[in-house]
Amino acid sequence: MTQITESPTMAIDAKAKALKAAGANVIGFGAGEPDFPTPDHIVEAAAKATHNTAYHRYTPAGGLPELRAAIATKTKRDSELDVGAEQIVVTNGGKQALYNACMAIVDPGDEVILPTPYWVSYPEMIRLAGGEVVAIETTETTGFRATLDQLEQARGDKTKALMFTSPSNPTGAVYPSDEVEAIGRWCVEHGIWVITDEIYEHLTYGEHTFASMPVLVPELAERCIVVNGVAKAYAMTGWRVGWSIAPADVTKKMVSLQSHTTSNVSNVAQVAALAAVSGDLEAAKMMREAFDRRRKKIHSLLNDIDGVDCYEPEGAFYAFPSVKGLLGRTIAGVTMGSALDLADVVLGEARVAFVPGEGFGAPGYARFSYALSDDDLEEGVGRFAELIKSS
Ligand code: PLP
Repeated sequence: MTQITESPTMAIDAKAKALKAAGANVIGFGAGEPDFPTPDHIVEAAAKATHNTAYHRYTPAGGLPELRAAIATKTKRDSELDVGAEQIVVTNGGKQALYNACMAIVDPGDEVILPTPYWVSYPEMIRLAGGEVVAIETTETTGFRATLDQLEQARGDKTKALMFTSPSNPTGAVYPSDEVEAIGRWCVEHGIWVITDEIYEHLTYGEHTFASMPVLVPELAERCIVVNGVAKAYAMTGWRVGWSIAPADVTKKMVSLQSHTTSNVSNVAQVAALAAVSGDLEAAKMMREAFDRRRKKIHSLLNDIDGVDCYEPEGAFYAFPSVKGLLGRTIAGVTMGSALDLADVVLGEARVAFVPGEGFGAPGYARFSYALSDDDLEEGVGRFAELIKSS
């Protein structure tokens, strides 16, 4: 446990919320959650379930059978992956699916290749399972995408798995399908497992499109765990429903693990998720349009700030600019030694919260979630820009 640190995204969010609770007008770019309400038909399905005593009880640890079946159907519809309900475990958010996956396949001493910048919880989960993180650094120069050369350099006798995410949190990078396929083939060639996090599958923009690795490389299926959930596509972060798709024997183990730790996900939340995955994608499309508009806006506003350099996000809802041009400068009387210093001063002085890159394994960068209203987005980046200009 001494190896594990607090999630920095949660920490900055908590600090911003505490300031807000004390009456400060804080604009938060910290949290990774859509600002839209959960669509009505989903809320109504859950509300109805609360009055049905059948949903006041435990479900099987692996999830409601009808939800597991509906997830299999939705997976075929959205990413063309053929899976059976027996390969699915319904989990407390995508987060628990990732944790279960690490516990299921990573043995003490195993190495897991993890491209940086990474989502904050991956390295901690790998370590909780006793694994070693082998980080490979990606930057704007490759569009924040790992190359086969880098993967090959990171591979060793103890390599067990690759943690893969596209679209990415925090960079917004989306791997084109030929690269997804090449990476999948490389994993098959070397007997390496892939945990592929598809939680942002519906949020890609412009010419960038999502591609599912086990669809492009079917031979990977026996060593692949897909992670997904309703949080991002249906504005359901608080409902806590995700899932894993894995080979049936691994799924059995993950169900056992879950049966001794958390048991089933809230029954009523599972009914909500059932309504989400069985329904159409209209709400997701509407949100994607709003995010796309904000993506363009934040990209251009951040690039207008002297010392800030922003790669255009291709998916998810995060901008991940370099703030290296601000390091060494004095802002509000404090010399900026790191992105952490910058986040602290900007929150204190401009009442604008963003997450410093250190937590994503990328010092010198900052993550701005653009899942907030257009007005707040302009106001927030404006305040940040003003503070820099006046310093
Ligand atoms: N994977 C990625 C890349 C994420 O960004 C997040 C949430 O921020 C998750 C998984 C976890 O999502 P959930 O809320 O379903 O646990």
